[in-house]
Amino acid sequence: MGHDPSEKALHLSTIAVHSGKMPPSATDPLTPPVYLTNVFTFADMEAVDDVWEGRRGGYIYGRFGTPNHTMLEETVAALEGGEAALACASGMGAITAVLWATLQAGDHVVAARELYGTTYALLGADIRRLGVDVTFVDAADLDQVRRALSPKTRLLFVETISNPLMGVVDLEGLGALARERGLLLVVDNTFATPALCRALGLGAQVVLHSATKYLSGHGDVTAGIAVGRAALIARARAAMMRLGLNLSPFEAWLTGRGLRTLTIRMERHSQNALALARYLESRREVARVYYPGLESHPQYRLAKRQLPAGFGGMVGFDLAGGFPAVQRFMGALRLVKFAPSFGDVGTTWSYPARTSHRGLTPEERAGVGIGDGLVRLSVGIEAIEDLLDDIGGALDAIGRD
Ligand SMILES: *Cc1c(COP(=O)(O)O)cnc(C)c1O
Repeated sequence: MGHDPSEKALHLSTIAVHSGKMPPSATDPLTPPVYLTNVFTFADMEAVDDVWEGRRGGYIYGRFGTPNHTMLEETVAALEGGEAALACASGMGAITAVLWATLQAGDHVVAARELYGTTYALLGADIRRLGVDVTFVDAADLDQVRRALSPKTRLLFVETISNPLMGVVDLEGLGALARERGLLLVVDNTFATPALCRALGLGAQVVLHSATKYLSGHGDVTAGIAVGRAALIARARAAMMRLGLNLSPFEAWLTGRGLRTLTIRMERHSQNALALARYLESRREVARVYYPGLESHPQYRLAKRQLPAGFGGMVGFDLAGGFPAVQRFMGALRLVKFAPSFGDVGTTWSYPARTSHRGLTPEERAGVGIGDGLVRLSVGIEAIEDLLDDIGGALDAIGRD
């Protein structure tokens, strides 16, 4: 961009630094731009005071947030039916911000034993080191949860659908217990998303997401988000800012773009996963299938009530032939890739014994129900015929010499 020739001529280095001003426009972009700026400018001292004190809308510094963060937060808050939301650099960042904002030394946490591995480690190691007592329980068993409570218990931490065995917890039951005892029920809703389960309406006070998975949905983002009451989210936001858990504006933008198709993606993920789960149950190479939408699932009735719009895209199954069968299965798959994550539009699979539960001994793994034949599928939105072909073909290959 040039500059006003009536002004004193600027030197080349100054022109270079100050180029790229926003041109005036009578139109707005249909799709919001990415605010790739790490700070905002102020016209006068009144604006400094007003924006800092929240009297006028505006942004200050990249780590505090940008319009891209606000747009994402408002969308996820509305989807979950919460007052406010906070975007963070990862799911773990969002979990950290919420725990930092709500716990102090001397508090006690009751958490599900079957948690995402890094969450388990955060609670079991780091949070304990800070002087917070943590008890892990079978969260599907309300009596066990109740028995674990003490006068110091402040927070219950569970996942809507657990990984990799797809256990379902009774959110209404836990919500009632939390209300009765004045506890904060924190629900990691990554597996279900608000398209399938709105946990705040069932008694959760905070809902967390690894937006890395279904919310962004296209395997190109690492992000996290927390939703809850405005006062609690404000405290989590202060933690995010002090601990530096902020998300990049571009990834906030990408997550917002992914969200536009969340409901139709989850519908298709769920349809495909149910069809695959039923198919897997019919195969003799498969010893057991873990999917909340199957009548054989131990919490099928609860799952139907809690996930009325679909049971999600995650399916676990045991190959009867153990690890050798898993290797043959891997070698024969064409379309479905091995990837230790989930939630992409494309179908991927993972092997918990070598990924999420790698740190456990075989005995410990067996103790939590993760055998050498356990495979976890993240079912994508492809045509089901092609998925059945690929996975069916890989199962056929197990039996061949
Ligand atoms: C992936 C995941 C996390 C962690 O999220 P990151 O974005 O990887 O930090 C937490 N909880 C669940 C259930 C997850 O699947």
